[in-house]
Amino acid sequence: MVSTFVKQTSFEVDYAPSNITKWKSQRSGLQITYINQPSPIVNGYFAVATEIEDNSGSPHTLEHLVFMGSKKYPYKGLLDNLGNRLYSSTNAWTSVDQTVYTLTTAGWDGFKALLPVYLDHLLFPTLTDEACLTEVYHIDGEGKEKGVVFSEMQGIENQSWFISYLTMQQLLYSPKSGYSSETGGLTSELRSLTNEKIKQFHSLMYRPSNLCVIITGSVDEEELLKIMNEFDSELPTIAEQPQTRPFIDSPHDPPLENIHVTEVKFPDNDESMGELLISWIGPVADDLVANMGLDMVGAYLTNSPISLLNKHLVEIENPLATDIDYTTDDYLRTTINFTVSGVPTDKLHVVDEKIKQLILDQTNPDNVDVQYLRQVINQQRLKYISSTEKSASRFSNIAILDFIYGNPDGSDLSKWSKDLHEYDILLEWTADQWAEFIKKQLVNNKSATVIGVPSSELNKSLKKEKKSLSKSIKDKYGKDGLLELGEKLKRAQEKNDTPIPDSLLTHFEKPDPSKIAFIDTNSYKAGYFENILPPKANNYVSNDTISKLIEQDLPSNDFPLFIHFEDFKSKFTTINLVHAASRVESRLLSYLSIIEELFSLSIQLPNGKYIPYDQVVSELNDDLIEFNLDNGFENQFLELISVKVKFETTKYVKAIDWLLNVSKFSKFESSRVKIIVEKLINSLPDRKRNGELMMYSSQYRNLFNERSVRKMHDAIQSEQFYRDVLNKINEGNFEIIENDLNQLRDQLFRLDNTKVFVIGNIEELTKPVSSWTKFVDTYIEEESKNGEYKFNPDSFLDLPHSYQYQSELGEKCQKYVNLVITPAADSIHLISSTPIPTDYLAEDIFKIALATEFLTAVEGPFWRGIRGTGLAYGTNIRRSIETGYLTFCIYRGADAKQAWTTAKSIVDKFTSGETVIDSLSIESAIASIVNELANGESNSYDAAFCKISDNLFKRRGPNYVKHFLSKLSGFGKEDIIYALNKYFKPLFSSDSSVVFASVPSGKVEELRSFFTEEGYIVNTEEIGGVSSVDNNGEEKEHEDDDDDEEDDEGEYDSLSEEETGKTRTLPWRLRPARPEYPIPAA
Ligand SMILES: [Zn+2]
Repeated sequence: MVSTFVKQTSFEVDYAPSNITKWKSQRSGLQITYINQPSPIVNGYFAVATEIEDNSGSPHTLEHLVFMGSKKYPYKGLLDNLGNRLYSSTNAWTSVDQTVYTLTTAGWDGFKALLPVYLDHLLFPTLTDEACLTEVYHIDGEGKEKGVVFSEMQGIENQSWFISYLTMQQLLYSPKSGYSSETGGLTSELRSLTNEKIKQFHSLMYRPSNLCVIITGSVDEEELLKIMNEFDSELPTIAEQPQTRPFIDSPHDPPLENIHVTEVKFPDNDESMGELLISWIGPVADDLVANMGLDMVGAYLTNSPISLLNKHLVEIENPLATDIDYTTDDYLRTTINFTVSGVPTDKLHVVDEKIKQLILDQTNPDNVDVQYLRQVINQQRLKYISSTEKSASRFSNIAILDFIYGNPDGSDLSKWSKDLHEYDILLEWTADQWAEFIKKQLVNNKSATVIGVPSSELNKSLKKEKKSLSKSIKDKYGKDGLLELGEKLKRAQEKNDTPIPDSLLTHFEKPDPSKIAFIDTNSYKAGYFENILPPKANNYVSNDTISKLIEQDLPSNDFPLFIHFEDFKSKFTTINLVHAASRVESRLLSYLSIIEELFSLSIQLPNGKYIPYDQVVSELNDDLIEFNLDNGFENQFLELISVKVKFETTKYVKAIDWLLNVSKFSKFESSRVKIIVEKLINSLPDRKRNGELMMYSSQYRNLFNERSVRKMHDAIQSEQFYRDVLNKINEGNFEIIENDLNQLRDQLFRLDNTKVFVIGNIEELTKPVSSWTKFVDTYIEEESKNGEYKFNPDSFLDLPHSYQYQSELGEKCQKYVNLVITPAADSIHLISSTPIPTDYLAEDIFKIALATEFLTAVEGPFWRGIRGTGLAYGTNIRRSIETGYLTFCIYRGADAKQAWTTAKSIVDKFTSGETVIDSLSIESAIASIVNELANGESNSYDAAFCKISDNLFKRRGPNYVKHFLSKLSGFGKEDIIYALNKYFKPLFSSDSSVVFASVPSGKVEELRSFFTEEGYIVNTEEIGGVSSVDNNGEEKEHEDDDDDEEDDEGEYDSLSEEETGKTRTLPWRLRPARPEYPIPAA
């Protein structure tokens, strides 16, 4: 067949291991962009440019309906069932200007089989009325409003960020503009959205010439083009399609001519803290230098404690804000946003004025700190390069923008990604140029401000409205009407659930998992390792050039530091210092949030030299591209504390110097500590609005004891502690605090409590080991000051794990429910826990893994039973060997009681034999574990970390993946039933589980009586009593001051931090079709 796809462009990226090629079909206009970058994972992003004038939610509802079946494959869930079988997972998001469908596959073989099936779903979905009813909106037999999309939007549309952003879109853009629409759909409109309207939207937007298939990873190009050609030959030709390009051919809104300031209210009982959003319509997307310049100005103003806005608003006594972020929306013209959170409500207008004044001051060249700007540019460039080395997602984002906004000839793709010369241009800019630029973009160009004010009145009225609405529905339909609605829903569900013929699934051959190219990295060790390595950790290389170099560079045979090197090709190197928190007295663990700011404290060196904190931050920015202290090691093993720095390999010695100086010589000063504590306290109202965090907080505080970092680092647990600390500082008793902090430092940062991991470009380290001599000598010297020097390093086997710190309740693990009341929330977050083995290699762990995958697969039993019926946005089951619990979680529950009952009965039906476990589902469950494993190691850094963690921390030796897979292949139905009986049934029984939930006020009674009937003792917890630091530095009590909850643990952070770079998308503006859970702690 002659290819209809013409190559438009193909080029190597100058600064990353990527090659990018773009083709366009001359027949249909369909586009393909391939980003060739080695990885065991092939990622697909199928992008449709979607523009709509209204808030009906057609783009978002259509995104959901695409997964409900296609012309050739008219079965709901076929795509996902097939995906599970072919080592793949699917997802999608709808944003203001795009709907993007994703396909993630371990290996090319599975991907290529799914590609045409997926595309058939996009272009030829069935869009049945029945699917629309269950997926979009319906009233069930009890008169409750449900529907997957409806519940999803209901869960977010009263949140502060949602209200602020929608208001801002409407301020910036005209009502006709697609940019002013809520593409997710407002619930008020979803109620009346018809399937007809969705179909119309589909025929308008989902056409080949408005679709781009973007693929990253390693694929067979010839095969790819062959598959795409075949698919293309059945598509309508360009002439048969509507000819307009969304956004490009619509009227364009110019930047604002006047300043706007608007107040909006959001519901919350705690009225102490609000937030601000300040935005501009900026330069056109194609003005690369202006866009990059703005990104640099954004970073210059906000990205570190010494940035202008932070210096004046955040890092001050009685802070006016806890966080300031700069982001952009990359539209036809870039929208520039500053979000300011944790602002005392009575200061909201002041802060808006102040920010504008600070920006105005920068239009005077004398005030522009060019030196700092250049530092920012250099650092941002390195960060960007390092992110492209780690994953191809930067380029897939650029490819999406190129498709929506770029020149149709494909020429913008290389213009936007091939090189980084804009950084060079900006490095040359003078203070005059920067001042002029800031004036043009942020002063002469007018801004809009949305001021978000918390309102308990609004909270009350919304609840009331909801109640009366629910009553009016029941009145309207009456008993018979509801019965009929119930029947209608049932019929629709039955039709949707038409079983997929097994033959259709098995028609697709299962790829060979051994063909998946996992990334290999090499391990080396140096220094002190006797008696500390686990017996199975024996896979160190000892006979190549790197190992010889390491050996020759050892300063002495009794060098008292364990160093693990993990080598792969990279421009960068990362050092992780890992410490056991078990060495620290438990009363000191609460100070961890202060120690986390270690990289923004002043330094007092032994030679008398004092470096003030702003200079420390500035110099760090020069030498390192990442630096932080966190509990956990890469978000796992939360009883450890790690200090991480990332840098260009040539800065190795400097990086070690920094690690030494911050860990041993940082100075705890009253003014700095006070600011850190005030920020912590002011951030609480914001955290308490987050139901998911509150649920985890409740779990951590109750299941663990006071030796556990998990508990002591929890923000609610430590709230009173920090209020006391602040009082002590205000009363002039800082020495007590300082003394404690110094003790904490001395107990934590000891040579025998430090394990060093050097990861990345080891090959180019000239002195990999002896560079640590000064570090070691100084540590010994410092430690000898406090009496006799001791060196008793812990073996890896003795490192602390959370399961060792279970509370009395945690050990018993029965009969207890704690409901945290989140007054302004709309949905429930719930987690149930039951004990499991704490040995990573226990036979049962593998069976639990298989049973988990079987139950929770996309379109598996839980998915269909709970999400598909609108009871919750999602559920998950997680095995955490680190904590010793299996957990069942209801995520954004609309009807948590029914979700729980359904989950319980699904498990019961499998164990009783009423429902049969088919072998096809077991095969799929195993395949999706393979996909998960490959995803966890999709780049060299993650592969290196997995290897270290398997070998040293999880004590499960090398080749764990192989071992895991061989175990799984020997399992069958009876092993799943065994695990269900032994571990999953107990999750739903009061004799063997405890439950923690965050619950809106209106649903507390229902859940209380439900769980009481189930045999639990139910406790409720108010979090209303909040006080914050007001501007007199005194505490102001708002309500009663009970105990309060909340949390924030690395392991559960679902949003990763975005770095500044060429293009960005706000992660929380995307609405994944599937909830994106944190990585399971396997
Ligand atoms: Zn959705």
